[in-house]
Amino acid sequence: MSLKINEDTCIGCGVCQSLCPDVFEVGADMKAHIKDGADESASCVDDAMNSCPTGSISKD
Ligand code: SF4
Repeated sequence: MSLKINEDTCIGCGVCQSLCPDVFEVGADMKAHIKDGADESASCVDDAMNSCPTGSISKD
């Protein structure tokens, strides 16, 4: 499984970071990024995916 942020659609709102701060952070570029060494299976990842207003978080 690989967690991805679509940087073309991410608006940097910070919802993912608020819900799951160990996994997501919004960078100076105002795009969300997956933190190094993040536990991508954390339960809050699904909350962030479901709450992202632009549907920019995906797993494949
Ligand atoms: S919740 Fe979605 S739009 Fe907002 S910062 Fe995270 S990935 Fe980007």
